Amino acid sequence: MLKPNIRYKELKDSYLFNTIYRKTDEYLAEHPDQKVLRMGVGDVSLPLCDAVIKALHRAVDDQAQASTFHGYMPEVGDASLRKAIAAHYRKAGTPVAEDEIFISSGACDDLGDILELFDQDNTVMVIEPAYPEYVDTNILAGRRIIHLRSGEDNGFLPEPCEEATADILYLCSPNNPTGAAFSRNQLQAWVDFANEIGAVILFDAAYEIFIEDDNIPHSIYELDGADRCAIEICSLSKTAGFTGTRLGYTIVPKKLVRGGMNLNAMWSRNRETRTNGVSYILQKGALAVFSSEGQRQIRENLRVYKENAASFMTALDAAGIWYTGGRNSPYIWMKCPNGMSGWEFFDYLLQEIQVVGIPGEGFGECGKGYFRFSTFGKLEETREAANRLCRLLTKE
Ligand code: PLP
Repeated sequence: MLKPNIRYKELKDSYLFNTIYRKTDEYLAEHPDQKVLRMGVGDVSLPLCDAVIKALHRAVDDQAQASTFHGYMPEVGDASLRKAIAAHYRKAGTPVAEDEIFISSGACDDLGDILELFDQDNTVMVIEPAYPEYVDTNILAGRRIIHLRSGEDNGFLPEPCEEATADILYLCSPNNPTGAAFSRNQLQAWVDFANEIGAVILFDAAYEIFIEDDNIPHSIYELDGADRCAIEICSLSKTAGFTGTRLGYTIVPKKLVRGGMNLNAMWSRNRETRTNGVSYILQKGALAVFSSEGQRQIRENLRVYKENAASFMTALDAAGIWYTGGRNSPYIWMKCPNGMSGWEFFDYLLQEIQVVGIPGEGFGECGKGYFRFSTFGKLEETREAANRLCRLLTKE
């Protein structure tokens, strides 16, 4: 008799977003003339840049001619794209070999698939609050999960400690949802810790492009010894607006060996089995991101999101509210005023200024009393939302 994976019963349902949508719709049904500004969702609002669009069109045309047509692509990714990404890392001063780079359909896919490198018996450490996929994928695999709490006392950037001892360590910097980013010294401490205990770090770098401060590493391989303990998972989703286009890449260093097995070789083998490669067209689009024109154009879009972040930060600074993120991250994680819970603050903002964000409770226990704003919205709307927020929080 077939046995389904009963661990699905342990997953939390989609209560968070469903409740946000329901409450917003109910408010709008009662107040049809009001304009609600949605500042919660972590999806980009700006289109793909011109260099990418042109490359995509050209790639579509390639597929129309026998002489330029491409069928299956290499499972590990197209050589020219791997080369361009390696050059991008080299330019930043962090050498990564082409055969350490694996093209994916996005970070979400690889965050799940990469777990196939590890036995079920391994323990996993997740810093709370966290991007939900880390916990969900390991629940489904039946692994024991250690939840390491973070909070205002450590700026939501906990140090390695006895309690964090596990086989697989998830680190996300800049973090979703807190926007907090590890400094060089802080991240080095985690790399040293992982090497000491023989753990593997799964480093989620989905938001690296938002880093502005020099002492915050863009890649974990900027740290000594990281090539012996870390896998880096990257995405063009927020970097280049690929949320709906889908492309990412994962770096598995050749020096990463556990139990006498080389994880780079294992991941190559995994790709051969688990994928038939990423679409030729999308890889051509991604290649354009790494051209000099593409890099210039994606940074123009980033400037808009940075301006959005500045609007929120100005509002919160004026109100004297504690927050993380914004400067090195597209998320702002603020402390709710007057001891309100995230949900109380959600209702308050909806009723008073018609601005929607995400209650911190949605990201686990440690998020209680905090609230997340995304800076991926439209410029004018975000400016208006931040102005409304400022007026509300600074009023007598
Ligand atoms: N990692 C983090 C921390 C994210 O916030 C997201 C998406 O929001 C992802 C990974 C998934 O990115 P992708 O769109 O490349 O699947």
